[in-house]
Amino acid sequence: MTNRFVPIETGLIKSLYEEAFRWYVPDREVPSVHISFYPYIGINHTIRSRDGKVLVRIAEICRDMPMGAHKGLAYILTGKLLRKKIPPGAREAYGAYSRSEELRERAGADKRSRGRKVVTSSAGEVYDLAAIFDDLNDRYFAGEMPRPVLTWSARKTYRILGHHDAHHDHIAISRSLDSQNVPRYVVEYVVFHEMLHIAHPARHVGGRKHVHTPAFKRDERKFEHFDAAERWISENVRRLKRAVKKEARQRQG
Ligand SMILES: [Zn+2]
Repeated sequence: MTNRFVPIETGLIKSLYEEAFRWYVPDREVPSVHISFYPYIGINHTIRSRDGKVLVRIAEICRDMPMGAHKGLAYILTGKLLRKKIPPGAREAYGAYSRSEELRERAGADKRSRGRKVVTSSAGEVYDLAAIFDDLNDRYFAGEMPRPVLTWSARKTYRILGHHDAHHDHIAISRSLDSQNVPRYVVEYVVFHEMLHIAHPARHVGGRKHVHTPAFKRDERKFEHFDAAERWISENVRRLKRAVKKEARQRQG
């Protein structure tokens, strides 16, 4: 579940892709560029062209990288799409960051938290995801949903509150929510959302993947504390963000 109350600051990143287009093909009209972030495992980015639009998906862990690295990546991806020779400066600018210890560490932590090799416990400091899952399963799914691997994310996050990985049958919930300050119904709401991804598998229509279908959204509203949970998240975005930044500072210092 993406925290939809976090403003998406993609304008600047988008302009870098437009700039790259103008640089590679100065006499062609710049297509409309759409930027999204995706919780890929590790560091993967994709670019593709569809119906005259250019869709860029950047790995979530690279969202906050310096603008210089974003610029390098924009020239690399755009060059690949247009099959043009990529200027060495772009590879250097992005490479310096992608090889940096910070990113490697983040990617490693991500893999560890998502992979099956290291099994972290569903029990957090405050909430036990297995207990929450079983309770929701009884209340909303007649106890019939097989329990997936449930873990807390390795790090606190505020943009991504939960993630369901169908390939690994794994639900990860942001450790930001494992706190006395977070009401249980908020954790339940995020777990419930991810459970709905199991109940409503993604549908592929015309090559597009539909995740939050109308049926999904209808079911989501059946959660008893839907309004309260949405309100709590909208009112506590800054608190969640602060906790993430604090954790990052502690890691560095
Ligand atoms: Zn979702």
